[in-house]
Amino acid sequence: MIPFNKPYLSGNEIKYIEDAVNSGKISGNGIYTKKCHSLFQQRYHFKKCLLTNSCTDALEMAAILCDINEGDEVIVPSYTFVSSANAFVLRGAKIIFADSRNDHPGIDEYKLGSLITSKTKIIVPVHYAGIACDMDVIMDLATRHGLFIVEDAAHAIDSYYNGQPLGSIGHLSTFSFHETKNIISGEGGMLVINDHRFEQRSEIIWEKGTNRSQFFRGEVDKYGWVDIGSSFLPSEITAAFLNAQLESIDEIQNRRRRIWNIYYEELKELENKGILKLPYIPDYATNNAHMFYIICNNGETRNNLIDHLKRNNILAVFHYLSLHKSPFYANRYPEIELPMADHYADCLLRLPLFYELKHEEVLYISNTIKDYFKC
Ligand SMILES: *Cc1c(COP(=O)(O)O)cnc(C)c1O
Repeated sequence: MIPFNKPYLSGNEIKYIEDAVNSGKISGNGIYTKKCHSLFQQRYHFKKCLLTNSCTDALEMAAILCDINEGDEVIVPSYTFVSSANAFVLRGAKIIFADSRNDHPGIDEYKLGSLITSKTKIIVPVHYAGIACDMDVIMDLATRHGLFIVEDAAHAIDSYYNGQPLGSIGHLSTFSFHETKNIISGEGGMLVINDHRFEQRSEIIWEKGTNRSQFFRGEVDKYGWVDIGSSFLPSEITAAFLNAQLESIDEIQNRRRRIWNIYYEELKELENKGILKLPYIPDYATNNAHMFYIICNNGETRNNLIDHLKRNNILAVFHYLSLHKSPFYANRYPEIELPMADHYADCLLRLPLFYELKHEEVLYISNTIKDYFKC
C-alpha cells in the first residue's frame, strides 16, 4: 500500500536529541529552542518566534493576546481544521464562518467585507495547501476596521505572497510541525509575533503567566504570576528534532516540489478535458508543495475514485468537513449556506505526497487516476 503520508527524517534528528538529553537541559526554551527561533527569524524575517507544542497552542495564544472576550466575533473560513475556530471559541468568541473561493479552497477575500460588524476583532486567513490568501485585500480590511489578522500558516512554511514570507504579514501567525506537514517535530508548532505590541505579553503567556523569560535575561530579580497563560512551550527534545529538520529545509522543499510537478504534468490532460480540476496558484502566490489535491466534478466521483485507488493499493484521502455543518456548530447556531466550502468538502481529494515517494510511484498513482476516468 502506498501511504498518504510518511514522516521523513533528514538525518540529524536522533543525534541532536541525544545532544539535548546529554546537555542536562531538556525542559523548554534552551539552546535548541533558541536555535530554531533564530533560524526562522533570519530566513523569513519574522519579528519574534515562540515554539509551541502545536499550531493549536499558537492559535490559543493568539486568542489570549488579542484579548478575545465573550461575544467578540472572529471570522474564520469554514473549510479549515477545527483549531482555526476552536482556539477562539475557548475564549468566548462567536465564530463567523466565511466561504471559500471558487478557484481555490482558501477564504474568499472579497466576501469578507459583508461579514464585518462592530464586534469583529480578528480575521483568520488560512493559507490552504500553502497557497497564499490575497493578503493585501485582507490587511486593508484590517486597517480600515481596526482588526487583527492571525494568519493560520499551518500549511504554509516556506511559501510567499508577492515576495513576502507567509507568516510575516499578519499581526500574529501560527505554524504547525505536526508529522503531516512539510517540516515536522511529531507534534509541534510556533507563534510568530509581527506586531511589537504583543512581544512582551507573548512571552508571559508562553511561560504559564509568569515573567520567567525576563527573569532569565536578568531584567527582573524574581519571577512570579503576572498574567494568564499556560504550558505552551515544547521541550528541548522536540526543538532538537525540529532543528535537524530546519537544516534540511531546502532539500525537503525541493523534493516535495519535484513530486508536485510530476503530478501536475501527468494530470494536466484530465483538467484540459474538464474531468477534474488541479490546484490553482495565483500570480501573487508561490507553491510550497505542502499538498497535491485534485477536485472532482462531484462527490460521488470523488468517493468512487478513493475506492478505486484503494483497490490499487493507494491511500488518497479527502480533507476538511465544513465546520459550519459540524455537530458542535450546527447544534448551537442557525443554519448557514457556504456552497464553496461544501463543494471542497465533497469533491477534493489529496494524493500521497512525502519526501520518500518514488518517481515511479507518482507515475503509478497518476496512471491509476487516468485509468479510472477512462472507464
Ligand atoms: C494541522 C493544522 C492545524 C493544527 O495543527 P496542530 O499542530 O496539529 O495543532 C491548524 N490549522 C490548520 C489549517 C492545519 O492544517
